[in-house]
Amino acid sequence: MTEHQTDPGAEDAARRAELAANLDRVEKRITAACEAAGRDRADVTLIVVTKTYPASDVRLLAGLGVRHVAENRDQDAAPKAAACADLPLTWHFVGQLQTNKARSVVRYSDHVHSVDRLRLAGALSTAATAAEKRLGCLVQVALDAESGAQGERGGVAPDAVAALADAIAAAPGLRLDGLMTVAPLAGAYAGQPRAAFDRLMEISSGLRETHPAATMVSAGMSQDLDEAVAAGATHVRVGTAVLGVRPGLG
Ligand SMILES: *Cc1c(COP(=O)(O)O)cnc(C)c1O
Repeated sequence: MTEHQTDPGAEDAARRAELAANLDRVEKRITAACEAAGRDRADVTLIVVTKTYPASDVRLLAGLGVRHVAENRDQDAAPKAAACADLPLTWHFVGQLQTNKARSVVRYSDHVHSVDRLRLAGALSTAATAAEKRLGCLVQVALDAESGAQGERGGVAPDAVAALADAIAAAPGLRLDGLMTVAPLAGAYAGQPRAAFDRLMEISSGLRETHPAATMVSAGMSQDLDEAVAAGATHVRVGTAVLGVRPGLG
């Protein structure tokens, strides 16, 4: 090696240390939010959103004890999941999803958080049945969407949750796991993540009256995971705070 080449082993160690420090900070935030809310730390699952970051980071994270990762684009996720197939990881899909990607997503995903229309539920059901899999599905709720409309970043309006949830629960190959949301950037909940997550918890309580096993509440990202845990989220989806600021859009 010449002195101009970087030592890959040293780079790996530096990245590992960075990820470890970031994970430690996120862990402290989750623990503090649980303590403040009188919740058991074991009732909140950290999902690290690895989108735009390489499989080598996923491998380092697994080595640091991460067991849940999430992706939002099938084109990136499919090869990454294949490269990490030997790791003890649960894969979550959290992005807007086209029906023609259902077959690919079902291959590596254990949970899809972004189910927001009947046609997508149908495509996932067909794909899961063909793969002889049981796919966990969450209804994505757009808290800023008007009745009958979709959210800007996907999701169904709150009054459409029950019908979609019933369809998922009845679909072969699918299991209704719960609800997901992204705190709205516009509308009545803009800048009010706690109020948004409280509303999601209300919708979740209503859902569990008819679907008691649909207990997952996926809410909270790097900026607002503390509010999500305070409100009662069972799963937080954290990208930037663990991996760093993503270059460009993601
Ligand atoms: C990117 C993404 C996250 C993570 O966002 P950060 O702000 O990086 O923590 C969570 N949920 C979804 C749906 C995402 O697309």
